[in-house]
Amino acid sequence: MTNLRKNKKTWIINICAAPDSELSAYELITAGREISDGSNESLSCVIIGHEASARADYFFKRGIKKIYIIQGEIYKNLIEEIYSDSLAQLILKEKPDKILFSAAKESKTIAARLAAKLNIGLISDAIKLKSEASGKTSAIKPTFGGDLMAKIESRSNIEMITIRAGFYSKAQLLNPAKNGELINFKPDLSQLNAKIKLVGLSPKPKEDDEDISDAEIVVAAGRGIKTKEEFEMVRQFSDLLGASLGITRPLADLGFASENCQIGITGKTIKPKLYIALGISGKTHHTQGILNAKTIVSVNKDANAPIKDISDYFIEADIKEFLPAMIKKLREIKGMEGTARKS
Ligand SMILES: Cc1cc2nc3c(=O)[nH]c(=O)nc-3n(C[C@H](O)[C@H](O)[C@H](O)COP(=O)(O)OP(=O)(O)OC[C@H]3O[C@@H](n4cnc5c(N)ncnc54)[C@H](O)[C@@H]3O)c2cc1C
Repeated sequence: MTNLRKNKKTWIINICAAPDSELSAYELITAGREISDGSNESLSCVIIGHEASARADYFFKRGIKKIYIIQGEIYKNLIEEIYSDSLAQLILKEKPDKILFSAAKESKTIAARLAAKLNIGLISDAIKLKSEASGKTSAIKPTFGGDLMAKIESRSNIEMITIRAGFYSKAQLLNPAKNGELINFKPDLSQLNAKIKLVGLSPKPKEDDEDISDAEIVVAAGRGIKTKEEFEMVRQFSDLLGASLGITRPLADLGFASENCQIGITGKTIKPKLYIALGISGKTHHTQGILNAKTIVSVNKDANAPIKDISDYFIEADIKEFLPAMIKKLREIKGMEGTARKS
C-alpha cells in the first residue's frame, strides 16, 4: 500500500519545567523511533524551558540528531499560554506531521491548548503506538476505566499524541550523534495577551515526594487501611522491606499520603519487580498502573477480591493481623527486636 505521508517529521516535545520530564522524554524517544522511518531527519526533539539548551546533550547522547531549542527567562515558570503559543509558532513554521508529548499533567495541558490553537486533534494517554500502512499512527488508549482498549487514529494532518509514562523503555545511551544540529527558535510573543498572571509560588511539601515510577519494590495501601495508625504500620512494613510506598485513590483523597504516591490511571504507572497490595480490591482504574509489575502479592480479607485474578500470590488475611505479624518477623530477621521505629 502507498505510504501517504508527505512530510516525514516526528517530533518529541520536552517541557523542562514538568516534573519527570527528563525521564519521560527518554521513553518518548523510543516511542518516536517506532513510528518514524529511521532516517536522520525523521525524529527530532523540541526542548522548551528556562535553560533548555543545557539538556540538549542528553538527547544527542541518545541518538537524536536535530534539536530545536526554545529558551529564556520567560519560560522559568510553567505558564501554559506562553509555552503553547511558542510551540505553535515553531510548529507552523516547521510543519511536523507527528508530535509526541508525555502524558504528565503539565505536558497534557500544553498539548490541549496547542490542539485548540492549531485546530488539530489530540489523542491523550496512549500506551502504545503503531504505524499504519496509510502512514497514519494509531494509538492504543485504555478507556472505560481500563476495561476496554480503544484504537484511535487522528483525522488531522498533524497527529498529536500524549503518551503515558512507563509503557515504553527508556532510550539507551548511544554514541553521541555526530554533527548533531541545534536550532534556536525565538518566538514572537509581543502579541500574546496572556490572561494568566503568576502571583506567587509555594513549594510542595517534600514528604512522600519520592518518585515511585522506577521503584523495584512497592508496598501499596488501599481502603482496607482505615486509620492513620494502620497506615503507619504500612509505612513501617514498607521501610523494613526497603520498598517505596504507593496508595490507591481513596487514600490519596483522604490525605493519607501525597497524590504523588497514587498508582493507577490518574496516578503513576509503575513497573516494580515486586508489588504488594494491602487491602486493595483491584478496580481497573488502579490495576492499569501495575500491569508491568513482575510479581504481584496481594493481601485481602475477601477471598473473592478481584485483585486475586491478577495476583501471583494471594494471601487471605486481615491487615490488622497480617501487618503486626510481618513487622515483628522482619524486625527479628533484621536483628531489630525491641527497637522502636524512628519517626
Ligand atoms: C475517573 C476515575 C479515575 C480513577 N483513578 C484511579 C487511580 O488512578 N488509582 C486508583 O487507585 N483509583 C482510581 N479511581 C478509583 C477506583 O475506581 C477505585 O474506587 C479505587 O481504586 C478503589 O480503591 P481501593 O481498592 O483502595 O478500595 P476498595 O475498592 O474499597 O477496596 C478495599 C479492599 O480492602 C479489603 N479490605 C477491607 N478491610 C480489610 C482488612 N481489614 N484486611 C484486608 N483487606 C481488607 C476489601 O475486601 C476490599 O477488597 C478512579 C476512579 C475514577 C472514577
